[in-house]
Amino acid sequence: MRRAIYPGTFDPLTNGHLDLIRRGLRIFDEIIIAVAPSLKKQPLFTLEERLVFIKSAVKGLKGAKASVFDGLLVEYVRKTKGIAILRGLRFVSDFEYELQIALMNRRLNHNVETVFMMPSEEYTFLTSSIIKEVTSFGGSVKGLVPEEVEKALKEKYKDVKRIME
Ligand code: ADP
Repeated sequence: MRRAIYPGTFDPLTNGHLDLIRRGLRIFDEIIIAVAPSLKKQPLFTLEERLVFIKSAVKGLKGAKASVFDGLLVEYVRKTKGIAILRGLRFVSDFEYELQIALMNRRLNHNVETVFMMPSEEYTFLTSSIIKEVTSFGGSVKGLVPEEVEKALKEKYKDVKRIME
């Protein structure tokens, strides 16, 4: 059983994340999508909301599971008997930060490899932040996030707009 852990904030899940999960499943038997609370980033969606989006989006994907983790990632990987950490690389700018984390994780646990994958070109510009920004200004993100996420984003920003009016 080759299990990988795909950690992230997923605030919210995008089709770029899903593209990476699908690609990962061609190499690994199982991928645990591990949602970090990332409270420092002040997420728009609660941990539970983020987890529900993922669970419903991967329902039909054999081998994909969603869970929550907090603390040291390599420790979570060890506990869940993972052999690798899966991360996405979109731009050169992702690389510096990702390399730093990957090398630190290797130092902390030599038995865990980090595997980087590239999404389909159509998602290389896609970040959860840009999705939130576009929706906050009333722009459409159709086709870039699952429908459930699109609806939830509209709801969130309706409340924000109401406060500002
Ligand atoms: P984090 O807070 O760890 O950066 P994210 O949810 O932003 O959490 O990203 C989780 C992982 O998914 C990261 O490895 C990131 O590079 C990757 N990722 C995010 N968006 C995309 C995308 N459009 N295509 C491929 N990988 C992506």
